[in-house]
Amino acid sequence: MTATRSQALFERAAAVIPGGVNSPVRAFHSVGGTPRFMVRGEGPHLWDADGNRYVDLVSSWGPMILGHAHPDVVHAVREAAVHGLSFGTPTEGEIELAEEIIDRVAPVHQVRLVNSGTEATMSAIRLARGFTGRRKVVKFAGCYHGHVDALLAQAGSGVATLGLPTSPGVTGAQAADTLVLPYNDVEAVKRAFAENPDEIACVITEAAAGNMGAIAPRHNAELKQLCRDNGALLIMDEVMTGFRVSRAGWYGLENVEGDLYTFGKVMSGGLPAAAFGGRSDVMGKLAPSGPVYQAGTLSGNPVAVAAGLATLRAATDDVYRTLDANATRLGALFTAALTEAGVAHRVQFAGNLVSVFFTDAEVTDYAGAQAAQTWRFPPFFHALLERGVYAPPSAFEAWFVNAAMTEADFEVIADALPHAARAAAAAEATK
Ligand SMILES: *Cc1c(COP(=O)(O)O)cnc(C)c1O
Repeated sequence: MTATRSQALFERAAAVIPGGVNSPVRAFHSVGGTPRFMVRGEGPHLWDADGNRYVDLVSSWGPMILGHAHPDVVHAVREAAVHGLSFGTPTEGEIELAEEIIDRVAPVHQVRLVNSGTEATMSAIRLARGFTGRRKVVKFAGCYHGHVDALLAQAGSGVATLGLPTSPGVTGAQAADTLVLPYNDVEAVKRAFAENPDEIACVITEAAAGNMGAIAPRHNAELKQLCRDNGALLIMDEVMTGFRVSRAGWYGLENVEGDLYTFGKVMSGGLPAAAFGGRSDVMGKLAPSGPVYQAGTLSGNPVAVAAGLATLRAATDDVYRTLDANATRLGALFTAALTEAGVAHRVQFAGNLVSVFFTDAEVTDYAGAQAAQTWRFPPFFHALLERGVYAPPSAFEAWFVNAAMTEADFEVIADALPHAARAAAAAEATK
């Protein structure tokens, strides 16, 4: 497979865009090589600038559960676009999208639309602080909640990929109000509440961790109780899991109620939109009904709303059954290939999010994810890429199946994986 056009584009991009990309993980830093510039997506496939076709296991980092350019979604976007791209006024579609979200996720009674997951978590934290009159925020190491200043401390995803403890530009004060605890460690949360009486506004957690690889939560029910006992709010970040792992997201699998929820990715069908929502008494504190300010010129954009609504309406129970089956099948292929090649590994699921960790031990937190043999990942990744399988370009990410995958796509994956597993087996430790 050649990447000549992609390489030329990457060089051109690097002159005008920092690092050549508009989101760090796209630059392939942790796997090396040339990022592929994509020109088209249809169903389960992507085509790059050199004409190579890939089975896409990133699905735009989650949104494309139906596959690329789904006819219903494209139709809805076209219809919306010809009626005008943005009005800066309320529109009926926003009500319909809010109603769809509320109908799916029982603890959500009111919704505010924003433009990105980052905005959703930033606004949810501001609201939690405004509602409780408290300063401090508890987050968990390895959880990524977007690039909100206060939430960058020990974040997963690209921050993990680049090995950054936090980020320059985040002030001491912003970081000082953030208590970072190990994921799935209830005792640590108890201690934090005991040591910071009446100071913790909220605990924010990925409903199930996906940004340090897929790690199922064991602490959600206890988090809910501890928040309740201590007058703090529980923010369930479902930007990744929402409307992907079930009709009602992770809430639909576990039924632990958060006070606030954040959504993104699937709910906007691939266009820039996101949301936060939850208890009416808390949401009622938002401007203009309350004093906590939050706004957005393009929030509730009619084209993005149309894409989100069409995606959610097409995401039937059948689609969720297919996603689950595809994730199970992918996981089984990982296991078969890596076992055959004699590579220590753990295939982990959080709903239909899948990850492979190169380790013997079950991974339950960020320390576990970092302790895995991540140096086996780059050759694993490139052997797949070379054979037409587009995997997430980082060992710290979940793999995202979509419902458009067919037998033929699984054959491509099944043919590529033994090569990748042997490449992982032959990898040499870099640390
Ligand atoms: C992707 C993600 C975000 C950030 O969303 P953006 O739209 O990239 O700002 C926040 N939280 C979680 C759990 C995510 O996976």
